Amino acid sequence: MRYSALRILSQGLSGNRGWERIWRDPEPKTSYDVIVIGAGHGMAAGYYLAANHDVRNVAVLEKGWLGSGNTGRNTTIIRSNYLLPENQPFYELSLQLWEQFEQKLNFNAMVSQRGIINLFHSDAQRDASVRRGNAMLLSGADAVLLDEGRLRKMCPYLDFDNARFPIRGGLWQPRGGTVRHDAVSWGYARAASKLGVDLIQNCEVTGLVIEQGRCVGVETTRGRIAAGKVAVCVAGSSSRVMKLAGLKLPIESHVLQAFVTEGLKPCLPGVVTFGAGHFYISQSDKGGLVFGGGLDGYNSYAQRGNLPALEDVCEGAMAIMPMMGRARMLRMWGGVMDMSMDGSPIIDQTPIKNLYFNGGWCYGGFKATPASGYCTAHLVATGTPHEHAADFRLDRFQRGHLIDEKGAGAQPNLH
Ligand SMILES: Cc1cc2nc3c(=O)[nH]c(=O)nc-3n(C[C@H](O)[C@H](O)[C@H](O)COP(=O)(O)OP(=O)(O)OC[C@H]3O[C@@H](n4cnc5c(N)ncnc54)[C@H](O)[C@@H]3O)c2cc1C
Repeated sequence: MRYSALRILSQGLSGNRGWERIWRDPEPKTSYDVIVIGAGHGMAAGYYLAANHDVRNVAVLEKGWLGSGNTGRNTTIIRSNYLLPENQPFYELSLQLWEQFEQKLNFNAMVSQRGIINLFHSDAQRDASVRRGNAMLLSGADAVLLDEGRLRKMCPYLDFDNARFPIRGGLWQPRGGTVRHDAVSWGYARAASKLGVDLIQNCEVTGLVIEQGRCVGVETTRGRIAAGKVAVCVAGSSSRVMKLAGLKLPIESHVLQAFVTEGLKPCLPGVVTFGAGHFYISQSDKGGLVFGGGLDGYNSYAQRGNLPALEDVCEGAMAIMPMMGRARMLRMWGGVMDMSMDGSPIIDQTPIKNLYFNGGWCYGGFKATPASGYCTAHLVATGTPHEHAADFRLDRFQRGHLIDEKGAGAQPNLH
């Protein structure tokens, strides 16, 4: 389908009835070379299987609608400001893929590199920011240390003069920013569908068919489908789906909430994160302040949260940006997070042959979507991990080779 100003005008005058579907809506076939379960990162994996490896007999099975999981529920922040050598190159690859996304997929995802600033409030935090910034620069990412004076000019609405935790400066990644999350799903779905990948919505996987230690297909609410290989990318449902194969994961499911206010005039240059509490904020293109904080603090599979978390997040807001006390809140929502025990993800082959697992994204997996899909496709198509995801192994918890970016240990609420 071609888009033009003339087409928009003529469709507008004729009730918008002539637009075609932008991706196909096929019936499931009886068999595929690869089945990907979950249409978040899974949709990206489906696209890269076809685009990079010419594996086109692929189905992406989604129990709800495209992007109905965390992919359509997050606060849209992208960045690669990581410290550890196992994480940094992977997230930098993702940021580079975001930078090419719109041109490559010919889809406007509103990739907006407005920058992300992590505030620091003490000398020790400043030192830690310098170290992280240097690690980022060494691996080819961008990082700038902001002193208080420069930060005051960039973020005049932060409380510099009367704060419980005085703001001393920030670590800025100018290439960080936000991307419209739904558009990412739509862009991948359209491009994948064009290459022959079947996106099958309203199709829940209820069983994994395993014969002699090998995964050979799936049971679904729309019948059994055979597969050469199966990749599970289901985030907060990871434990439930992998249980179908008898596997227990080092993952807990927790709720994370997000909040948005009424539209305000521009008051933030990009994303800002509080360094002395769990709070972060950005401003959407419509002017709403989009913000969030920590987990709700209990295990759950519910896609909604509770009021104590709201209070805690708003306390963080008031601590650094008191002007927010006068903004009216419009909406809040929740997503089910797949919290791994070291805060880092898993992209790996499982002990069951031809069954692959992608998960443990905690609350930072949206920015990983392109690299996660890219590396999952690489693993499934070639049988070997991609060099930038080679450490995201399932058995690292047994081996004791944790990738503990925050040094928080096995405590999901602290990651
Ligand atoms: C409030 C909130 C704010 C966040 N903010 C950010 C942020 O600013 N930046 C960032 O990088 N990350 C953020 N995240 C995290 C990010 O959204 C997730 O890590 C990421 O989207 C995970 O993608 P995914 O594809 O693994 O999961 P999902 O998008 O949840 O996809 C998994 C899919 O699997 C489907 N599924 C589950 N079970 C089955 C089954 N049995 N059969 C078929 N399909 C199934 C689900 O319906 C779902 O659509 C946030 C998350 C939340 C909730």
